[in-house]
Amino acid sequence: MEQFEKGSVHFEGVVKKYGSVTALKKLDLAIDPGQLVTLLGPSGCGKTTTLRLIAGLESATNGKIIIGGEDVTHLSATYRKVSMVFQSYALFPHMSVAENVAYGLTVQSMPKRQAMEKAEQGLEMVGLAGFGSRLPSELSGGQQQRVAVARAVVLEPEVLLLDEPLSNLDAKLRRHVREKIRQIQQELKLTAVYVTHDQEEAMAVSDRIIVMKNSEIAQEGTPHDLYEQPNSAFIADFIGDSNLIDCDIVSSNDDGTNIQLGDKQLRIASQTELSGRAKAVLRPHHVSLRPANRDAAFIGEVSYAAYLGNEIQYSVQSDLGELFVIAQATAQPISVGQSVGIDMPTDKMRLVPMD
Ligand code: ADP
Ligand code: MG
Repeated sequence: MEQFEKGSVHFEGVVKKYGSVTALKKLDLAIDPGQLVTLLGPSGCGKTTTLRLIAGLESATNGKIIIGGEDVTHLSATYRKVSMVFQSYALFPHMSVAENVAYGLTVQSMPKRQAMEKAEQGLEMVGLAGFGSRLPSELSGGQQQRVAVARAVVLEPEVLLLDEPLSNLDAKLRRHVREKIRQIQQELKLTAVYVTHDQEEAMAVSDRIIVMKNSEIAQEGTPHDLYEQPNSAFIADFIGDSNLIDCDIVSSNDDGTNIQLGDKQLRIASQTELSGRAKAVLRPHHVSLRPANRDAAFIGEVSYAAYLGNEIQYSVQSDLGELFVIAQATAQPISVGQSVGIDMPTDKMRLVPMD
């Protein structure tokens, strides 16, 4: 018998259809208590649907949803111990900030005074002590979203749900608010399911990331796993930047893999189960350029250079196609039109299927 701990979330073969639209194909999920797990993926892949199914705001067409060991598949939202933070904050404009935070508690019939005390503690936690008597309209967007986080957290949910909570904030604030959310989640050891389409945001806040594509899971793992061991071209491209270079697998065994890359044969130290055509993944900062080196295995010509202060980004036209290269900013950047030798370290290369 599987163990279902308090605060864990499990989906077993969950299907969600809206009429003829399949929003979730057949989802199996296991989220451990106290972890922040992000659902990441392009628009329309089923992230919000998954979150609303956990909240009980949608009902599953098929399958089972289990929260903290309890089968909640047919339990209405009111009785689920979850609270949700929305992209739009959804604060009541005519209530004070403290009343907004206290609202859910008073609905649960906590006496007003006690609820207001808890609201004040919640505001303190999100760094808004003393803002309780203001109206939401008197706060900035970032502050309003922190009020929404406080309102969700004071309910002491078994699971905290956040749907694109930073989308309405500008870039600088986004980082500040996401750090606050992560800090509170870790302090309170809350289970949190966080939805975003922004891979950097997902990498920054998550214990684990579930990448979704076309209504199913494409890959899941820690941010490190996904970046270092993408299992498809989609993941390699979606999590960070990648060069995806067509190649042929010549042979593979315990000792390593021989691949044909352009007119060169290269050897990769790891074995692969792939055969025939494949793509070699190489991160832009692992490719290096040597000016005017015509003896290198691969040669090319710089077609674009962008100085970004801490790094320089190059586009290089080569026999292998266009390559994206990131180099540390140096005193002598390579200029556009210059020919270069290209080093492609095979120990940093990973092979993924064609699509
Ligand atoms: P995401 O949050 O990843 O952008 P959603 O979960 O909102 O994606 O949507 C997944 C799919 O389900 C999309 O194709 C969307 O158009 C469809 N969908 C979502 N909600 C509804 C609904 N209420 N009625 C019909 N189709 C819906
Ligand atoms: Mg959505």
